[in-house]
Amino acid sequence: MSRLTCYRCFWPQSLCWCASITPMPTRTRFVFLMHPKEFKHEKAGTGRLTHLCLGNSEIHMGLNFDADGAVQELITDPANFPVLVYPGPAARNLTTGALAPAELGGRRLVLFLLDGTWSGARKMLRLSPSLQKLPRVMFTPTAPSRFLIKQQPQDGCLSTLETAHELLLALTSSGLDTYPLPAQLLDLFARMQAFQMKCAADPALAGYRRRAFRTPEQRVLSPNRRRYIPAPSAPPAPPSEK
Ligand SMILES: [Zn+2]
Repeated sequence: MSRLTCYRCFWPQSLCWCASITPMPTRTRFVFLMHPKEFKHEKAGTGRLTHLCLGNSEIHMGLNFDADGAVQELITDPANFPVLVYPGPAARNLTTGALAPAELGGRRLVLFLLDGTWSGARKMLRLSPSLQKLPRVMFTPTAPSRFLIKQQPQDGCLSTLETAHELLLALTSSGLDTYPLPAQLLDLFARMQAFQMKCAADPALAGYRRRAFRTPEQRVLSPNRRRYIPAPSAPPAPPSEK
């Protein structure tokens, strides 16, 4: 298989997803903060595809976002209402309408999402006091993760595509946004997984990875590979910021 890469979706050109993605407009700005390790390992993962699906989104890679000029501009711009998607007792649940449109006072809602594992997210937060200070929001997922290929260690670890889907449902029910293409994110996720399942079942198909998928018996769950974005209803122990 050709290893030429599409530098938009980061999949091999022969498997490029770009033609099937329609960027959808949202009022909310989605900002994906990606751990460098996540960027390296999951370059072809769902974070980048989610970004391509959302016209009003951006990805920044790094650990210390206090030193990231573009991120700081988003936080300090008085026209913005920046919040961090991070579950916990202090987080306001978008699903239950805990953030009312009137509170925005005409400002643009900017959602910061940490894209990485638990330990990665904790590190990004520890190194970025400006993110620690942001008000926090969460959501109650309408469904458990649809992940089939990555064995999710517990219910509630959602892929970035699913997280964006759930956030848009919650934002819509809160009256904060609309969700113009509600099928796209999950469709893409299902199709991506169907392809990966096919690769896992056929050792001759390496898929987008240089190494083939392991068989289910060979797979070992590493706590460090657990994704950070959990379901607020059943969160793993929230990472401490100390
Ligand atoms: Zn592509």
